Amino acid sequence: MKPTIVLVGRPNVGKSTLFNRLTRTKDALVADLPGLTRDRHYGHGRVGSKPYLVVDTGGFEPVVDSGILYEMARHTLQAIDEADAVIFLVDGRTGLTPQDQIIANRLRQSTRPVYLAVNKGEGGNRPVLAAEFYELSLGEPVVISGAHGDGVYELIETVLESF
Ligand code: GDP
Ligand code: MG
Repeated sequence: MKPTIVLVGRPNVGKSTLFNRLTRTKDALVADLPGLTRDRHYGHGRVGSKPYLVVDTGGFEPVVDSGILYEMARHTLQAIDEADAVIFLVDGRTGLTPQDQIIANRLRQSTRPVYLAVNKGEGGNRPVLAAEFYELSLGEPVVISGAHGDGVYELIETVLESF
């Protein structure tokens, strides 16, 4: 069966950009404005002979309990429940934020395997970029660049290993 991989992270970390690379389409809306992708978005991808389904999610605002932000959180939580694996994206340039912590708390309660990816890592020192994200207690942070492709193939291979 085709595993479903969901991309989770606060707005603007690069989920839609990574989605495009993993599905080789421009289907996901990539925005300079945070939070523009307002719903889940599905696409198909393949590494070698291994196909997968990838889900882009909109913003993750679990502290807001009404309006559009609540809807986005609900969609995201549902996508996590339906997923076989989660890629949790953080922004290596901005660094660790309180919102990342909130999402991490949620993901640590999930029964799904979670892969922590430090995005926007092109041209950076990988161990230095990864260092501050160990405290999220979600395993070893993997530095990638969704925009340039660095580390993306290795990440998806790792995610698919158990399927
Ligand atoms: P989303 O809100 O999480 O879906 O983030 P987007 O994919 O819309 O990207 C938000 C911004 O980050 C855009 O300006 C992207 O061009 C930029 N971005 C995404 N991935 C990378 C990356 O790997 N490196 C850099 N430098 N910028 C990126
Ligand atoms: Mg997006």
